[in-house]
Amino acid sequence: MHQFHCPVVDSKGKTARELMNIAAKEASEGRVRKMNLIWLEAAGCSGNIISLLDAKYHDLLFFLSNVVDMRYSNSLMAAEGHKAYQQFLDTLKTEFILVVEGAVATKAEGRYNIIARDGERPVTSMEAVKLAGSAAKYIVTAGVCSSYGGVSAASPNPSGSVSVPDFLQREVIRIPGCPGHPEWIMGTIAHLVYLGRPETDDEGKPLMFYGITIHDRCSRRSYFDKGIFAEKLGDKECMFKLGCRGPITRTDCPVREWNHNVNWPVEDNTPCIGCARRGFPDGMEPFVRY
Ligand code: SF4
Repeated sequence: MHQFHCPVVDSKGKTARELMNIAAKEASEGRVRKMNLIWLEAAGCSGNIISLLDAKYHDLLFFLSNVVDMRYSNSLMAAEGHKAYQQFLDTLKTEFILVVEGAVATKAEGRYNIIARDGERPVTSMEAVKLAGSAAKYIVTAGVCSSYGGVSAASPNPSGSVSVPDFLQREVIRIPGCPGHPEWIMGTIAHLVYLGRPETDDEGKPLMFYGITIHDRCSRRSYFDKGIFAEKLGDKECMFKLGCRGPITRTDCPVREWNHNVNWPVEDNTPCIGCARRGFPDGMEPFVRY
């Protein structure tokens, strides 16, 4: 179903794109240089780097050309093995942004998650996050696992996974979601590089993306307000009684939409499962109830 947005909502949807445009203009006029970026994949599914690759307005090439110099990403960089790890170490001596996706596995001294080898010595993501986390200018957690523990820290949590803020005890900017929307990630980083730290809520989530609840802008809200509820998946009414977590989940999914901004879960007959909330997934289950 095509939605017609009011100008205010529409402008919200464009926020990330405008930030990227500012970045491109500033960079092309030589006023601000790009900032180095290290993207660490810790204990997680790598869904956030895949989400980033799916960005369209603007796309990843634009982001890499105008906003950051991605010095380390084990999924995207050309270098391998020792050369790649050396690039990570060299970047620690520069001014850089650290992005972490995935939680930090702490059990068995972090050996549940080995990301590199230093000679013969295995390097855990726990060690890498600690090293980079103490040197980074800004730390951004991409996805719910690095932000709050998420799926990686779900009960019984065999790897002893914890969130990055809990592990580092340092201020971070959280971009939760399973995964984070590419525009949330790129927009936040563009803001850091060209405008400084964005305004956040008390959990460190940028208000420009996490300032409203899904329920605030949901296309089924009029059903909720009239007390008309879906009885099963596929019904067109409000899914509150099927367990929708939209009223307690703060993201702009209804106005931003996913997969090149074409759709989002409620519009596709799936209740919101609260994937951007602290406590996901254990605290949000069951995802559907009758
Ligand atoms: S479907 Fe969910 S988010 Fe939408 S109005 Fe109902 S409870 Fe709110």
